[in-house]
Amino acid sequence: MGLSLGFHGAARTVTGSRYLIDSADTRTVVDAGLFQGYKKLRKLNWRNLPFEANSVDQVFLTHAHIDHIGLLPRMVKNGFNGNVFTTRASMDLAQLLLLDSARIHEEDAAYANKKGYSKHKPALPLYTTEEAEQAISLLRPIEFKQWLEFSKGFKARYQPAGHILGAASVEVDYRGGNTGCRILFSGDIGRYDMPLHIDPHPRPDCNILVCESTYGNRDHDRSVSIEDQLCQAIKDTIKRKGTILIPAFAVGRSQQLTLILRRLMKSGKLPQVPLHLDSPMAVDATSIYGRHLNEHHLDRDVIEDGREKLFPDSVTLHKSRDESMALNELQGPRIIISASGMLSGGRVIHHLSRLIGKSKNTIIMAGYQAPGTRGRDLLEGRPTIRIHGKEFMARAEVKSISGLSAHADRTELFRWLKSNDNPPDRVYLTHGEPEAAFAFADQIKRDLGWKVEVPDLDYKVTLL
Ligand SMILES: [Zn+2]
Repeated sequence: MGLSLGFHGAARTVTGSRYLIDSADTRTVVDAGLFQGYKKLRKLNWRNLPFEANSVDQVFLTHAHIDHIGLLPRMVKNGFNGNVFTTRASMDLAQLLLLDSARIHEEDAAYANKKGYSKHKPALPLYTTEEAEQAISLLRPIEFKQWLEFSKGFKARYQPAGHILGAASVEVDYRGGNTGCRILFSGDIGRYDMPLHIDPHPRPDCNILVCESTYGNRDHDRSVSIEDQLCQAIKDTIKRKGTILIPAFAVGRSQQLTLILRRLMKSGKLPQVPLHLDSPMAVDATSIYGRHLNEHHLDRDVIEDGREKLFPDSVTLHKSRDESMALNELQGPRIIISASGMLSGGRVIHHLSRLIGKSKNTIIMAGYQAPGTRGRDLLEGRPTIRIHGKEFMARAEVKSISGLSAHADRTELFRWLKSNDNPPDRVYLTHGEPEAAFAFADQIKRDLGWKVEVPDLDYKVTLL
């Protein structure tokens, strides 16, 4: 019986996670992620796979981020019709994120057709809402820590990985005759001791470890706590009756921020100023987080409060456009959390154009800002910012909060690797830019003496 493992995404890059476990009896895909970022990468979303989608029997998803699930509707479009297993919370988030992703692809295609800039006539979306809905209908929940036998000799089990709600590492185990192999896919490993998200559980035993390496060559800044940074950034603005705008990712980051603000306001470290969560996706994601309270790392009072209270009493949730526009009339002091997280689009842009010109206001960047985004330009002190074709003077104060990343850094990844004394036979490092992956590989070889490889795209290894 042959058993092989193929790396068909997140190979020497951080997006597009997708692996194929191939045997004579069954074909299993782990993660079906969208490539994101540079055009060269995004083009990979359209390519024909080295295997037929309709030959895949089942898919396992580690968590609901689009770079891990966003190609699932494409697989469905190409004939895949098997079960898609994931945790219950990931299933809820995946529904939200896949529909949003389909809408973006449809809007992009419609825009390209209107402007006539696509060389394809007509330009087609990568997938449609209908195909996303078909993909959603294939989702099947499985519980953490319970083995699922999914084919003769094959079973799989999920272990909590922190990172975002529902995120897991997946063990896939094969036993046949007198041979066998256990492959562990780390998924994205979260940070330790974070607000809201739980710590990654200890690494299970395995023969083959496919491990992420996003921050394989870097550590997060630990010098000042996230609470203290946020407090300092907000207090002065409240005194001068300004508005604080925090661009944040709708899923995970927004909920962490509202929870930290709740803590700061309850303890009296911050006054009870109005807080507005202005993003339909963030509001929906918050209610999903609220439905899975038992899966979070929470203060006792939040659990006792019970009713989805992942935010302070002063919160207002804004879903509709009108509810969002109502914010334009309101004076400070107040805090607005809105998406997108890098100021590249979405509702936050309207607030930015309204608030950026006044020095009493503050923009707080609460996550990584990629080069070329407005978020990065502001952090680098650009005097003007372009929004909807107009230049705006950047007079508002700009601050940055570090440490809110959902990803384990080098030290934390190492801690997770060493959380089990039994070394794997071999490690494959994925989900990292080449500098990060190769630096981390060197460190593992040097400090642990394990065998490590950094596979290239479509690399295939025979395991049995
Ligand atoms: Zn992720």
